[in-house]
Amino acid sequence: MRKKLAAGNWKMNGLKADLHEVSALIEAHPHPKCDVLLCPPATLIAGMSMTAAGRIAVGGQDCHMRSSGAHTGDISAQMIRDAGGSHVILGHSERRADHHETDVIVRAKTEAAIEAELVAVVCVGETEAQRDAGETLTLIGNQLKGSLPDHATAANTVIAYEPVWAIGTGRTPTLEQIAEVHDFMREQLIKRFGSEGDGMRLLYGGSVKPSNAAEIFAVSNVDGALVGGASLKAADFGAIIEAL
Ligand code: PEP
Repeated sequence: MRKKLAAGNWKMNGLKADLHEVSALIEAHPHPKCDVLLCPPATLIAGMSMTAAGRIAVGGQDCHMRSSGAHTGDISAQMIRDAGGSHVILGHSERRADHHETDVIVRAKTEAAIEAELVAVVCVGETEAQRDAGETLTLIGNQLKGSLPDHATAANTVIAYEPVWAIGTGRTPTLEQIAEVHDFMREQLIKRFGSEGDGMRLLYGGSVKPSNAAEIFAVSNVDGALVGGASLKAADFGAIIEAL
């Protein structure tokens, strides 16, 4: 049985003053039924970890593929762990687009994360043009194949399906479209990883909000959500947690 996961991605939002949202979330939802993860900007990982005090998990939004060295501006998986993080989002479409991250790079980062004993939250998803061209499942299959190392397990890897055109747009796929992709991903993961693939949690991400969370979470093979905008405020994220 896969435990559901509500994961929040603060992206490049949040200052120390915003950590009160984390305290408010924990106070309002002291015993969530699902696992809860928040991924703030790197500057807040340590502070959020202290605020969370183990009540919710904290993670990074990216890491370098190397553990240390001359990589100005980057942070390593070990550094995230050292700051109190337990997870890291990898291959988010904004990283793939803005920083030209390929599946090969995402795979190397995923290996680095697993090596540092972080859980990798690996993102895949099609653009609108790829969906219109009927390429969605082929693309998702290739991204999964290319981005995941052979030693990915249910414990060290979570997959987030995030259609690029649904991120931050207020648009979501139909429930049938979400089911089609999630069922396909499950099939591919079982083929490659056997029972570990069956145990990997598959999150949906892209304009999840309190008003649509319950129906999305009821879809086959949806084990939770990766939430951007609606994870910034305790009231919104709390309502999504309650829907899981
Ligand atoms: C995201 O950035 O991972 C995301 C899903 O964003 P939003 O929920 O704002 O669409």
